[in-house]
Amino acid sequence: MTAQLLKGRQRAKQLQTELSERFTELAAATGVRPTLAAMQVGGDAAASGYLRAISRACQGVGANFRPVELHEQSSAGDVQAALAELSDDEAVHGIMVLEPLPDHVDDSQLIDRLNPAKDVDGVHPLNAGRLAAQRQPHFVPATPAGAIMLLEEADVAFRGKSAVVIGRSDIVGKPMALLLLHRHCTVTIAHSRTENLPEVARQADILCVAVGRPEMITGEWIKPGAVVVDFGTTYMDGSLKGDCEQGSVEAAAGMLTPVPGGTGPMTNVLLMRNLLDAYRRLVSTPNL
Ligand code: NAP
Repeated sequence: MTAQLLKGRQRAKQLQTELSERFTELAAATGVRPTLAAMQVGGDAAASGYLRAISRACQGVGANFRPVELHEQSSAGDVQAALAELSDDEAVHGIMVLEPLPDHVDDSQLIDRLNPAKDVDGVHPLNAGRLAAQRQPHFVPATPAGAIMLLEEADVAFRGKSAVVIGRSDIVGKPMALLLLHRHCTVTIAHSRTENLPEVARQADILCVAVGRPEMITGEWIKPGAVVVDFGTTYMDGSLKGDCEQGSVEAAAGMLTPVPGGTGPMTNVLLMRNLLDAYRRLVSTPNL
């Protein structure tokens, strides 16, 4: 068997064109182009790369981008004050806090102070809770939202299927597991303490991997014909690798999101969709 590849790059390009039209219509009707602010503390190379990618995504749809780059040594109080300013600024419609933060800045305390109405990454507990409770409105984190879109558009059947999600981060693993549960999958969440992981993975009709260990999953972990979503993105010897060993997994799976060109390109374009939703909600219901 050779898996059908679910190509996010092409789909993301179409979505970008559609969203770009919606941003232009909004600007024509209101004179406003929504603004996304992204806050980075320190100079982590991956966060700097992500900042540039978000800037390009904003440019691609005609949104404004406001990078807020703070020094690594900024005090926790200064970081909180900068976030509070963005949360209160009426000219800012979406806010992202880029990880990693320096050790002296408590991630959870900071995120608690983020205005949930501008939380386009869906990380504030109010939005995460609304996602868990299936209540609107909420922001679904863009990475799992993009993966679900690829699966739905490929007519993947969810109801009653066994889904295994490896990884339990707030931004990928947990929300992906919830989105699968809401579609009536029987969901197992696996992580670094899971025993017999290959055996657990082999039970999956739908296997989603968000670990960040390149090529950890091989074809023997795959139930023949399974749908495999590879979120992993790690640079190895100058090229981008997923968590799946592409050759053997592609040979065993029925469908696979490739790396590069699978879930990655969908993420930033769906972030732009969340920004547009944030603007609309802020105008209609400023207090979530
Ligand atoms: P993260 O916060 O570091 O979470 C990694 C998860 O993997 C944790 O839950 C961890 O378990 C688990 N894990 C680590 N080693 C493991 C092992 N040997 N066996 C089983 N589970 C293990 O990472 P993340 O932010 O979710 O990102 C995961 C990957 O997705 C990274 O490669 C990242 O670059 C990529 N990513 C891609 C996109 C995209 O657009 N495609 C977006 C975001 C992230 P514990 O909880 O027990 O520690």
